[in-house]
Amino acid sequence: MKFGGSSVADAEQVKRAARRIVAKRESGYRVVAVLSARGKTTDELIAMAEEVSPAPDPREMDMLLSTGERISCALCAMAINDLGQQAISLTGSQAGIVTDTSHTKARILDVRSERIEAALEDDKIVLVAGFQGVSTSRDVTTLGRGGSDTTAVALAAALGAEECEIYTDVAGVFSADPRIVSNARLLPVVSFEEMLEMSASGAGVLQLRSVEYARNHGVRIHCRSSLDDGPGTVVVSEQDTLEQPLVTAVTHSTGEARITLLGVPDQPGIAGRIFSTLADANVNVDMIIQNEPLADGRRADMSFTVARDDIRIARAALEAVVDEVGIGAVAMDEEMGKVSIVGAGMRSHPGVAAKVFNVLGEARINIEMISTSPIKISCVIPGARVPDAVRLLHAAFGLAGEDTILPEDPFGGAR
Ligand code: ASP
Ligand code: MG
Repeated sequence: MKFGGSSVADAEQVKRAARRIVAKRESGYRVVAVLSARGKTTDELIAMAEEVSPAPDPREMDMLLSTGERISCALCAMAINDLGQQAISLTGSQAGIVTDTSHTKARILDVRSERIEAALEDDKIVLVAGFQGVSTSRDVTTLGRGGSDTTAVALAAALGAEECEIYTDVAGVFSADPRIVSNARLLPVVSFEEMLEMSASGAGVLQLRSVEYARNHGVRIHCRSSLDDGPGTVVVSEQDTLEQPLVTAVTHSTGEARITLLGVPDQPGIAGRIFSTLADANVNVDMIIQNEPLADGRRADMSFTVARDDIRIARAALEAVVDEVGIGAVAMDEEMGKVSIVGAGMRSHPGVAAKVFNVLGEARINIEMISTSPIKISCVIPGARVPDAVRLLHAAFGLAGEDTILPEDPFGGAR
């Protein structure tokens, strides 16, 4: 069981999570629960760091950020003990989560779960601080924003759990962000492949790495509300999903930045040099476009997108290669957004991209960049137009929930 930060934000919520965990234990299961930091704690810790340092040291950042989850676990253990069950809270390190050494974005290398298993054997409920581990050089690491999901999935895999339940403040995974699309539909089942694309393109429900990890280890994820007993969404392998709708969901992100390199020498090896520099700085690059150089000039322009949060690091990394490679100029646009449609059924259907472009075109939303995978189409658009784009695409592909479908719709809610 994993509880997100908004599900343990105040004392009442911690007690509610504790009751839920105890009820599960009393129904006969052994329970390991992973908790996130309470409410906005992680954001507050980041802000604190930025108050004392313009570019906080990553190792110390991890020492700081890992405290949020420890607070949640200790408090929840206290509440569980008061309910008559025995609980023990563990840091990521105590729980045996071993990671690589890339501070603030570490990857789990191994889960040495003996201590958890011993505690379960001892009839204890085990609470594990999410989002953190200990590196191969014995430093505390964190797993990137939203990393508690990955902690939970990794533990579920290591312990052979029946299911990894992710409790959150929404009812599950929706066909679009319900804050933007009021008739977004709760999806009962989503395949790993679709969920990967959805997480990668902005669906905030599950951290991308947790879905990757679940797919690689065959962990069934059950995403559900911490407030009620609704059915939620299960994420399973594609052969276990019954239907393959053309489009399953519309996702979006407003946290994109575009970097354009003007006058890049058109020679073999240059792109490798530029993107290795970004990779070494741990910057994830999303879309990349390179134009044909002018016939005489032998110079190209190259644009790519990165998360807006990474722009400072990207800029610093690029400065180091601008002169070496001979790049003319670097331009940044920090106000970009992205809208994507995801669906396993589009693999075998022509015309989906055309429809997306037409819908955006009719609304006079300019498409700045496009990328596709067999089951996803993404368009980078001006950040301010993202909500319109999401609503229009959700309607155009008939994704609305049953209760809000217009009576004259011949398909009813069946699509
Ligand atoms: N507390 C961390 C964050 O806010 C990890 C998590 O919530 O999963 O990103
Ligand atoms: Mg989270």
